[in-house]
Amino acid sequence: MRIPLRQTTITTSADDAAATVFGITADVLIPGRGDPIKHGAVVVKDGTIEWVGSKNDIPSECYSDLKFSHHVPVLMPGMWDVHTHFAGSGVVTAGIQDSMRLFLPGSAALVGAVTVDDLRRTLMSGFTSIRELGGYAGDVSPAVEKGVIVGPNIYSALAILSITGGHGDTHGAPLQTVLDTCCPSGGGSAMGMVCDGVEGCTKAVRQVIRRGAKVIKICSTGGVLSMNDQPEDSQFSPAELRAIVEEAARSGRVVASHAIGKNGILAALDAGVKSIEHGMYLDEEVATKMKEKNAILVPTRHIVEGLAAGAEDLDPKSRAKMLRMLELSRSSLKLAIKLGVKIALGTDTFSSDRTHIIAHGTNAKELHWAVEAGMTPLQAIEMATATPPETLGSMAKKAGQLKVGYDADIIAISANPVEDIEVLTKPDNITHVWKGGKLFKSP
Ligand SMILES: [Zn+2]
Repeated sequence: MRIPLRQTTITTSADDAAATVFGITADVLIPGRGDPIKHGAVVVKDGTIEWVGSKNDIPSECYSDLKFSHHVPVLMPGMWDVHTHFAGSGVVTAGIQDSMRLFLPGSAALVGAVTVDDLRRTLMSGFTSIRELGGYAGDVSPAVEKGVIVGPNIYSALAILSITGGHGDTHGAPLQTVLDTCCPSGGGSAMGMVCDGVEGCTKAVRQVIRRGAKVIKICSTGGVLSMNDQPEDSQFSPAELRAIVEEAARSGRVVASHAIGKNGILAALDAGVKSIEHGMYLDEEVATKMKEKNAILVPTRHIVEGLAAGAEDLDPKSRAKMLRMLELSRSSLKLAIKLGVKIALGTDTFSSDRTHIIAHGTNAKELHWAVEAGMTPLQAIEMATATPPETLGSMAKKAGQLKVGYDADIIAISANPVEDIEVLTKPDNITHVWKGGKLFKSP
């Protein structure tokens, strides 16, 4: 079945493209990890990459009937954003600091409706997979998997685990309201979940996994947009952090920690979290520990620059915190690149307001900031493709590289991003998007 959706023809039926073999050729093929290949080709069978290399080397004896469906200037793996939130901000709520309306009956339907188009925009901008660190995309992901709606592969934490009064709590709401809506006995509609003590933290991990979480999101420090804490505050005790990481591991999940202040970063790393989100106070000691632990930095430069550019919209307390973080965020990424810390693309993209600087679909701006901080374009592409699945431990599918046996999540681009990384930041330049071998976008 073919459904016309705006300018794009999209196949949504799970039966389409099943048991098919096709090839795509490109002037330049960027594998995600490793050097680009001139005059490259990929062969896709049943949604998986079966062969990749230089077009001249295709074993013709194996592919006598091979059809090349497309020739494009540049091919690369679909990109990943490992730090997103889908909650209808700017439509359902007035903005990022107005989460109260999410507690009202009926808001879930509106969030879901808005999220459908946000997910489509994300896929059309070249992002074939997202990790959602708190939000509602995880709740609608069965509809994407069934082909009912169009979107990237979704790996969601669903609710953010936070201490009472921590970054993931809603400080402006009565505590009982937060508890009633975030826990399974309540509506289960909040994207924040308050838990305290080893027992409470262990139970909270079990509850989000029960709801379908593929990764566990916690806050080991305070934040910029929460009312009554500071980014330098440490949140959760070492024993609570250990309990969360160990309970997650029993179900094959890794933990991502919102961590800005140095003590909260170090405590999270000691407990064994897989990724440090934001990481503004990264210094040489933190970088060394991250490398020892094989942890990954998710710098979220896009939201920091975006919020700083619109700082007048924030309340005075948050504005002061934001401006304090700006320079730290710039220098920590520069240092992390210099010291060889592993980095994955994550933006903190959250806005459903189409005019907002960090609206869904603007995710590739993170590559711009990475190159500005010292990465080569090829390193930035690896940050956007091959490295991100590692932030999910064993929960990620084989994807993020043009490599034999990997999912055929592939994008075509009108010009070479190795020569100019800005090419990726304009969705119009992403001419084709295949997800699992199915074509979702073409001119
Ligand atoms: Zn976030």
